[in-house]
Amino acid sequence: MNIAKVIIDLSLDKSFDYLIPDELQRRVHVGVQVHVPFGRSKRRGYVLNIVAESEYDKPLKSILSIAERHCRIPEKLMELGRWMAEYYCCSREKAVRALLPGAVRSGKVKHKILRLFSVATPCEAEKFVIEHTDCKRRAGQVSVVKYLLTAQSVAQEQLLRGAGVTMSPVNSLLKKNIISEEKRIVRRDPFADITVVRSQPLTPNPEQAKALQTISGVLANPGDRHVVLIHGVTGSGKTEIYLQTIARILETGREAIVLVPEISLTPQTVQRFRARFGDLVCVLHSRLTEGERFDEWSKINDGLVKIVVGARSALFAPFRNLGLIVVDEEHESTYKQNEAPRYHARDLAVMRGKMENAVVLLGSATPSFESYYNAKQGKYLLVELFKRVDNCSLPQVKLIDQRLGISEPGHSNLFSPVLVNAIKDRLNAGEQTILFLNRRGYARQMMCDVCGFVAQCHSCSIAYTYHKKRESLACHLCGDVIRAYTRCPQCNSDKIRYSGSGTEKIESLAHGIFPTARIARMDSDTMRQASSYEDVLGHFKRGELDILIGTQMIAKGLHFPNVTLVGVLNADQGLYIPDFRSGERTFQLLTQVAGRAGRGDVSGEVLVQTYNPDNETIKYAVRHDFINFYKYDMAVREACHYPPDGHLTAVFFRSANLAECRQYALDFMEYLRPLCQPGITVTEPAPAPIERINGKYRYRIIFRGKKLHPLQQQLRRMLLQAKPVKGLDVYVDVDAYSLM
Ligand code: ADP
Ligand code: ZN
Ligand code: ZN
Repeated sequence: MNIAKVIIDLSLDKSFDYLIPDELQRRVHVGVQVHVPFGRSKRRGYVLNIVAESEYDKPLKSILSIAERHCRIPEKLMELGRWMAEYYCCSREKAVRALLPGAVRSGKVKHKILRLFSVATPCEAEKFVIEHTDCKRRAGQVSVVKYLLTAQSVAQEQLLRGAGVTMSPVNSLLKKNIISEEKRIVRRDPFADITVVRSQPLTPNPEQAKALQTISGVLANPGDRHVVLIHGVTGSGKTEIYLQTIARILETGREAIVLVPEISLTPQTVQRFRARFGDLVCVLHSRLTEGERFDEWSKINDGLVKIVVGARSALFAPFRNLGLIVVDEEHESTYKQNEAPRYHARDLAVMRGKMENAVVLLGSATPSFESYYNAKQGKYLLVELFKRVDNCSLPQVKLIDQRLGISEPGHSNLFSPVLVNAIKDRLNAGEQTILFLNRRGYARQMMCDVCGFVAQCHSCSIAYTYHKKRESLACHLCGDVIRAYTRCPQCNSDKIRYSGSGTEKIESLAHGIFPTARIARMDSDTMRQASSYEDVLGHFKRGELDILIGTQMIAKGLHFPNVTLVGVLNADQGLYIPDFRSGERTFQLLTQVAGRAGRGDVSGEVLVQTYNPDNETIKYAVRHDFINFYKYDMAVREACHYPPDGHLTAVFFRSANLAECRQYALDFMEYLRPLCQPGITVTEPAPAPIERINGKYRYRIIFRGKKLHPLQQQLRRMLLQAKPVKGLDVYVDVDAYSLM
């Protein structure tokens, strides 16, 4: 066993074999970072595996050394990586790559080093002037010297920022032993500007106490069932349960991972954890700088923190003594990664928990059908919280039947009279309103009234969305943007019509209907900078805005006591997407949006405009009735064995050449057909609902069945060996969420 399979810089989908020299035999393990010769250069890599023989037919080179800063992926995490590769049908290299943040992998980001100088012989130091490189701050010259002298008189050691001081003079001082230097790692701090007020554990209410008791049982005996699903309405105190469970985990000397959806990973969320656990908490999310991410990860790796709060990939935090994983809002589809490895962080959390003997808490007001099903089957423990902590009742939800088509003159049918009056009441009372529409832009499509021309993206099979302010047409799939037409490019008519409203239009209509109201919009068009999100929320929180209009960005986890009205402009929007989960998603979204109302002293009202007031999903959502919605929708799924009653895996084929794409999909299917055991239902190769994205045609095969694992293993083998024609790619999406 003296050959190591090494992934170089983790950027190639392939590992390379190296001999392990005798002197390193005892230090080279799976997951260890090493230096290896590669071509004519020296590279860093990670040991993926250790084997006895190599299939490479030329003489092997040897590992040069172990990376100086001991960076080793914990063994249990490597095991998770291997499992992920097998289950999600991708190469081990891809899976292992996902275990590390890019900043750590690339080796480009380094620790920030602070140079510490201390005065060895104070009287000698007086004779030297240390030059300052920063010309604008000439005073620095003097201050450096003074600094050194006072440092001596006040304390033995003082910090000098190395950055501003030129090397040579300091070096000469160093050489003459007048000053001495020490290098220290400083951690970049994403919380540098934020002070937190410490919070104390709250006395649990009866429902929370019961939940904590159940969790205690699991903590005492996790081998049995290690997953607890907390189904609790918004504001029922789930977060307090997480906090108290973490405290218990810390007492036993173990660590905790808290996953939250990226979108709700706001400073407020993180502060709740920091308020309780201070500097034991670090964060991992996409808005950190590369340097910050490197340091936060290193803090975990070096054992300096015990808790990480982060988005999906924080699941791979290199803790070595993990005791707990919390997955908040576990139903969120953003937990599913949409490129290889196409893992679902919640499912992977359950697996990591199992491997590490850690407890897993899944929390949601609208659990995913998968988790609820597992709870009902007895695989997970179920804890239910029906009451809001503050005893506020859940908001009153009223349906507004839009079919009658009555609207304020000139207001289009987007604002029903009931909604308009309700908003006016709030404006008069000095209360706030949230308006929700899950579509950004001004209009969903631009069409010519004379010849029927619809402006469509040239690379994708969808219509361009019209953005009025920018006078542009944008493709929401590939990001292409062109100037909006003033005349039809086909017949030159100026009878251009826009249909299907988005948030931008809602905003401009609202300005017209409520001329004195202070209005802001929050969607990914207005939130281009990371700070805008916090800015707008800050304004809203301080009461400097009356109406906040937004997409699902405003639906999640926000807490505004003065919001007494939530208007859902079009509840039907997501209902008729050809996807068996469209009802589930609509239910989740409506429940979440409704949860934004009445979180203060005044009770809230939610008005839901719909053209389908008799739709079952909408009716259950209005009643906040998850349990019966689940029964209703689950019956439909069981009838056709859709997940969670069985599994679903999709294979996608993409190519700019339609004929090749189609042929390859058909051939692939013929190869697989004999491998499909009885009980597996196949949707034959066909164009995906969105036939073309980014210039590539897309074909799709869907497999469904109670047991798909053996087939998936075959698929994985085929995929890893396949060498499809150039420009064609195939991928397998296990437990696919997006079927479009
Ligand atoms: P959820 O996570 O279920 O939406 P939170 O944990 O955010 O609910 O709780 C809602 C509010 O109630 C928070 O402000 C929280 O501090 C408060 N809270 C939670 N538990 C208690 C308790 N036992 N006693 C008093 N206040 C509580
Ligand atoms: Zn035309
Ligand atoms: Zn496009």
